[in-house]
Amino acid sequence: MSRAKSPSSSDLVTARNVDFSNCDRELIQYPGAVQGHGAMLIVDEPDFRIQQASLNCREIIGVDAKDLLGKSIADVFGQRAPEMLERMHRMALEYGPVHVVRESFAGSTSGVNIFAHRCDGVLILELEAITSATEPASTQLYSDVRESIAKLEKARGIQQFHDLAVDRIRAFTGYDRVMAYKFAEDGSGHVVAEAKREDLEPYLGLHYPATDIPAPARRLFGLSWLRHLPDVNYTAVPLIPDVHPVTGRPIDMSFSILRSVSVMYAGYLKNMGVHSTMVMPLMKEGVLWGLISAMHHSGPRHVPYEVRMAAEFLSHMVSLLMAGKEDSEFYETRFRMSAVADQLVEEARQDPDLHSSLGSQDRNLNLLSLLPAQGAAVSSRGKLSLIGLTPTSEQTAELVRWVADQNLPVIATDRLSEIYPAAAAYKSVASGVLATRLAAHTTEMLLWFRPEHIEIVNWAGDPKKPMQICETDGEVRLQPRASFALWKQSVTGRSEPWRKDEKDVVEHLRQALMSSIASRAEEIERLNRQLADANVELDSFAYAASHDLKEPLRGVHHLASFLKRGEQDQLTEEGRQQLDAILRLTRRMDDLIESLLQYSRTGRTELSLQNADLDVLLDETLLACRRLITDTATEIRRAEQLGTALCDAVRLKEVFANLIINAIKYNDKPNRIVEIGVEEIVVEEAPRKRYFVRDNGIGITDAAKEQIFEIFHRMHGQDEFGGGTGAGLTIARRTIERHGGRLWVESSVGEGSTFFFTLGPEASR
Ligand code: ADP
Repeated sequence: MSRAKSPSSSDLVTARNVDFSNCDRELIQYPGAVQGHGAMLIVDEPDFRIQQASLNCREIIGVDAKDLLGKSIADVFGQRAPEMLERMHRMALEYGPVHVVRESFAGSTSGVNIFAHRCDGVLILELEAITSATEPASTQLYSDVRESIAKLEKARGIQQFHDLAVDRIRAFTGYDRVMAYKFAEDGSGHVVAEAKREDLEPYLGLHYPATDIPAPARRLFGLSWLRHLPDVNYTAVPLIPDVHPVTGRPIDMSFSILRSVSVMYAGYLKNMGVHSTMVMPLMKEGVLWGLISAMHHSGPRHVPYEVRMAAEFLSHMVSLLMAGKEDSEFYETRFRMSAVADQLVEEARQDPDLHSSLGSQDRNLNLLSLLPAQGAAVSSRGKLSLIGLTPTSEQTAELVRWVADQNLPVIATDRLSEIYPAAAAYKSVASGVLATRLAAHTTEMLLWFRPEHIEIVNWAGDPKKPMQICETDGEVRLQPRASFALWKQSVTGRSEPWRKDEKDVVEHLRQALMSSIASRAEEIERLNRQLADANVELDSFAYAASHDLKEPLRGVHHLASFLKRGEQDQLTEEGRQQLDAILRLTRRMDDLIESLLQYSRTGRTELSLQNADLDVLLDETLLACRRLITDTATEIRRAEQLGTALCDAVRLKEVFANLIINAIKYNDKPNRIVEIGVEEIVVEEAPRKRYFVRDNGIGITDAAKEQIFEIFHRMHGQDEFGGGTGAGLTIARRTIERHGGRLWVESSVGEGSTFFFTLGPEASR
């Protein structure tokens, strides 16, 4: 057991010499005095002679202290002495006071309980007067304790556990108020549970500054299992002589039952209207977690030894069980959070669009299911999804950019506006932010928000003014603050803090999502490679097949032509019609084969990219289509210049030609209008151009919008709207995709269609 260096008698802190500077180092284990409800004898070993005695020995055992000095124990305890010595010999006296014997002395009505322990090399005997004649039977106490422990074991959740603990201890001890008090890391604490007489003002939820229970007091509470102060207004009884005659040191009363308490502590209690206290430490893993503090307001209260033992035992059990309860609550939450995180990862694996898999308000499972937060956001592919209580889309988008610039995988703050001032505008919804990035240098991220939690810190008194120095009787001395009024400190711009386990689970989610994204990217790459190989194969096959088919088809066509010409006179009308059908079909087949060849060529041949002037390119296309344009009296509109782009000019002309011809062909209006132009759009946060060909034609149904891009798929009869093979749009889309762009249609039936296309990112800068 570690011992503080013992001081000389001039170091002793008494009501006279305590000052403001030593309030946190007050040497309260060396008070040099005891409380008046018992006497103290300091005995040397092995002679068992009394070296020091408290001045109240006459009241307790009927002999003056000065007459006891130098006497042996046998002189005081007579025939009980051998039994006492024998018991002390058997017991471990190094761990605090143990009950040795109950004794009666001349003059004492109910006798005394004698406790012994060794501290700092000396034997300390404490003789506590028994005041109450009606002590509870120990069997009753035992069954009460047992019942209490059984109930505590069954308590669900840590709050219920603490509520029950204070309630039971109050029932036992009969104190007016019993509180469970938890220390924070800075030494301050707050009341987490309270059982009290109904008419008393509640202290539940009050916060106390660290100075209320200063470090030395906390240390001493951690050392003994129970501290009892029956009467705050006691008069301290000094020991004589004031230092040990052999060691020359004052007595270390760290473990003593009767130790006189600090003047500041007594003053503090008096200010609170407390007459008697009993304090038991709550330990977790060997560290002082908090206290169970019992207070009596209606008058002094001396709790009998047996009841104290029962309460001490119970608080010991509370300590042991509490650790388990706290841990199990913690593990339960952690377990639940990681299960949700795993589910979210699975959702994201099945649906890689994080907006729908994680950020959808309509789903039962989304980011908000993971941890307690009022809002959340998904930022992915340049888009935002917001769930619950969040800043606006613009504010969130700006915040996302700011977080991305921080270059940290996870950012967690409960006071965002202190590090990011723009957040002051929406602190009521997002004073707290937990954000995690899914890839470096991007705005792919997940965010959770917590609203401002205007915390009224209910300090029991002003933490900045722990003590006041005041003039009393011409002396300057420390006085605990007189007012116990609540001192309210509003803390704005803060949310509930993010707990470590919450940050951990977000980190876990981040890693799992990232590895799922990485493996998906690998999978996509593998599939792409497979697809590219298959495409090359298919293209070569289509090319070879169509090429080879052309030859025999030409033969069929020639033979049919010969037959028609050479045998014209011999043919019946029916025969001639059949020959015409053969010729028509071979021509159609030739068209189809030609389309197929062209399609396979689009995939096979290299693009010849150049920076082309699209306006010139469009002029040439329109020139090539001029017959159709004039025949149909189509009005061509070109509102703006298309500019230049990196592309294969020949191919792009084919695309324009195909779209323009379709725009004219699939048009039933008397005044056909075709408009060609360009617009600026933003794709993945980068500006891009999209070109369009718009008509006022027949339009396309929603169902057909994708089908029209399938090869040989025509929405109309073979010869309707000027006929065609149904391969034009397929080839056009393929060409555009080879340029790294996209081709799609927006349309409204009866009103017209607009075909849009983009080119690759590098083409459209
Ligand atoms: P084709 O014109 O040879 O039939 P396409 O691939 O160019 O082949 O077009 C496929 C189908 O898409 C057409 O048959 C037509 O039904 C529809 N289509 C194409 N362009 C338009 C348009 N501008 N307006 C309405 N329908 C169109």
